[in-house]
Amino acid sequence: MVTCPRCGRENETRSSFCERCLHEFPSDGWDPRRLICPECRYDNPYGNDHCERCHEPLKPGQTE
Ligand SMILES: [Zn+2]
Ligand SMILES: [Zn+2]
Repeated sequence: MVTCPRCGRENETRSSFCERCLHEFPSDGWDPRRLICPECRYDNPYGNDHCERCHEPLKPGQTE
């Protein structure tokens, strides 16, 4: 459940946009296009397997 800060709609799905007003939710650790490093909070571009700063794996479970 994600409550839209703009219109107040309670979105059932964990979407990155509000279902009603299409407001983009702030990235509080989850953004489909960005990968926040769990270790140092560095904002890595999507597609990185490891953090550019500290080289921590960004996709646990998908490592070889
Ligand atoms: Zn909204
Ligand atoms: Zn990092």
